[in-house]
Amino acid sequence: MLVYKFGGASINSPEGVCNLGRIVSKCEDKLIVVVSAMGKTTNMLEAVNAACFERNTDEILRILSEIGDYHYNIIDGLAEMNCSTVQGLKGSVKSLIDEVIRFTENNRNRDFDYCYGQIVSLGELLSSTIVNGYVNMVVRTSKLVDARNFITTDSQFREARVYFDKTESKLAGVFSFPDATKCYITQGFIGSNPDGATTTLGREGSDYSAAIIAALTGADSLTIWKDVPGVLNADPKLFPEAELLPELSYKDAAELSYYGAQVMHQKTVKPLANRNIPLYVKSFVDAGLPGTAISSKKRLRNVPVIATKKNQILISILPKDFSFALEDALLENLLTLQRYRLKIHLLQSTPLCISLCVDDGRNTRLAIDELRIDGVVRYNDNLELITIRNYTEHLIEQYAGNREKLIMQRDRSTVRILLR
Ligand code: ASP
Ligand code: MG
Repeated sequence: MLVYKFGGASINSPEGVCNLGRIVSKCEDKLIVVVSAMGKTTNMLEAVNAACFERNTDEILRILSEIGDYHYNIIDGLAEMNCSTVQGLKGSVKSLIDEVIRFTENNRNRDFDYCYGQIVSLGELLSSTIVNGYVNMVVRTSKLVDARNFITTDSQFREARVYFDKTESKLAGVFSFPDATKCYITQGFIGSNPDGATTTLGREGSDYSAAIIAALTGADSLTIWKDVPGVLNADPKLFPEAELLPELSYKDAAELSYYGAQVMHQKTVKPLANRNIPLYVKSFVDAGLPGTAISSKKRLRNVPVIATKKNQILISILPKDFSFALEDALLENLLTLQRYRLKIHLLQSTPLCISLCVDDGRNTRLAIDELRIDGVVRYNDNLELITIRNYTEHLIEQYAGNREKLIMQRDRSTVRILLR
């Protein structure tokens, strides 16, 4: 049995959904398909949640109607290209959107993170409904399965943690394949807490969902279909000389995603590596290309790999009373950041100051307010963290030469530079 995951950039148009159909039709195995929201829908839904928090009804309705039109257009395109019965999916799209409108009417300003789960999950519900409808009518028999029925998480809305044991026992029997030709379609990114409320696994979390499903169902492999030919050693939009890495070990892939290579969500590798399930990253546009195979093979050596993280903030925490920062405060500060689910990308300390680099965002600002209770906190925002594995002086000069370096850390194989 195989698991395929398709991201929002692949299924952002009727042509994209048709192409998904083509790829699915070529698979002769039992298949589970995991989809994220189409195009930029998740960003738009985040704006709906913000409007709900601000009680801005006009804005909520305006964005939701835009989201509706976008999905109706995709259905129209599919109907034109393939079969007119796809039009019937518009009714399901409308009821899913109406449900969110009702939710926003009843839950103004209740709890930002809770509402996020209930509102932003709409993107995946819409895309999976359309993809399943299309595949079932045009490609091969398929069944839509709601991921919230098995992906079980804690109640940390927006960055929920998955309970693997509970998820595994709920998964038993869900993908039973009574008929091997049939395939299942489900959503990435979403799950539910023990009370049944919808939770999300963090932005770009669909890869992680797909990895969990592949690992816990004992799939033969997971393929992530992307708008790039595989895993490259740098982002081709930023570094034109980027090249394809045909093979990677789980360790390489885990490290690269941690450093910010735009290939897959950071947590994707672990569940697969633990059960030794190969991961393929392949081109959505040209499915015949070999792509990248990630497995327990030998580690990558000598090829330089460049990863960048934008929108970073460097937080410097100084004790108010001259106590030594490292001994007295490090653990407490780290626990505060962990409570806000912030991932520390770089850490540096001097006797009187701890400096940490994390993604900037709503939670970061809340954490800074809390850190200020016990310490003096300064920060620099709008920074970029660049990591070069197998670096040379020439590469450092090339990518960071003419910019202000706030922090530079290096060991024999890796250099990490925080740039303004
Ligand atoms: N749709 C979600 C996001 O854009 C999840 C994903 O794409 O993986 O973050
Ligand atoms: Mg997405």
